[in-house]
Amino acid sequence: MQVADPRQGPEDYPRGVTRILPTLVEARAALAEARSRNQRVVLVPTMGALHAGHESLVRLARQHGDLVVVSIFVNPLQFGPGEDFERYPRDLEADTAALERVGADMMFTPTADEMYPAGRGGTTVTGGPAARGFEGAHRPGHFDGVLTVVSKLFHIVQPDLAIFGEKDAQQVFLVRRMVSDLNMPVEIITAPLVRESDGLALSSRNRYLTPGDRQTALALSQSLAAARDALATGGGPTAARDTARALLEGTPGLSLEYFDIVREANFAPVDDGWDGDARGIVAARVGTTRLIDTMAMRVGGPLPTT
Ligand code: AMP
Repeated sequence: MQVADPRQGPEDYPRGVTRILPTLVEARAALAEARSRNQRVVLVPTMGALHAGHESLVRLARQHGDLVVVSIFVNPLQFGPGEDFERYPRDLEADTAALERVGADMMFTPTADEMYPAGRGGTTVTGGPAARGFEGAHRPGHFDGVLTVVSKLFHIVQPDLAIFGEKDAQQVFLVRRMVSDLNMPVEIITAPLVRESDGLALSSRNRYLTPGDRQTALALSQSLAAARDALATGGGPTAARDTARALLEGTPGLSLEYFDIVREANFAPVDDGWDGDARGIVAARVGTTRLIDTMAMRVGGPLPTT
């Protein structure tokens, strides 16, 4: 587990000016020029309101390529009606400063009009059955929006490699599937989840939390740790799930959407008797804020080291 600390990680990066690419034309031209110099391009897709979790992705990107492009786009297509698209935090000035600090080379900040000239009426990418459970069940259409924007970003930037956070575990699973199913020539790398020292997973949405909500929100990571510990001490998946769900359901001010333990290989819930690499996943509402968290777990074996 990584703990949030912006100073963490190699400090020998050249810091400089992050070039802002506000349009598709500028992005295409800058990236074509980089590719003509045989630079290995790494893309880090984000929705901005950057925190130490995003910064760790950029640091990882720097280790894997020559030119790091961070996209900042609050993608309307992945928000459902009544979700927080309008109030989603936007702070381009702070994001630019953060990206200069961690050494991103380029920042792609397209507008929704340029990304979706046909509005919601354009061609979209739809995931398979794995896109319909968990996040997909609670946020209908969410993954169509995610997969569509990710494939558009891949076409525009044409990265050699793209970095996604383990925090959005189902998203990473589906992006990997899309890249494989649609033969996209990009390598996907997953970055570890960054937490506060008390266990809260960093999220742009944490800034919506009141101090009381923030305390309540600790139940998400605590439920995952409880399930992981139950598995490590010989409990089966059913017992581990029950422990975690009881903890969440007994937390005042928290409304549980789902808690489950799924196989890393196919994102399907694990049964008792099965053993292998699994992952706890949880989503809950705390006050007006919807939060998700995840943790790697081993079913029927020793505790993973991360
Ligand atoms: P977002 O801006 O929420 O779309 O996130 C952009 C990328 O950052 C995604 O790949 C997320 O999984 C990743 N990310 C978000 N929060 C964290 C975190 N706490 N630790 C590591 N990566 C994160």
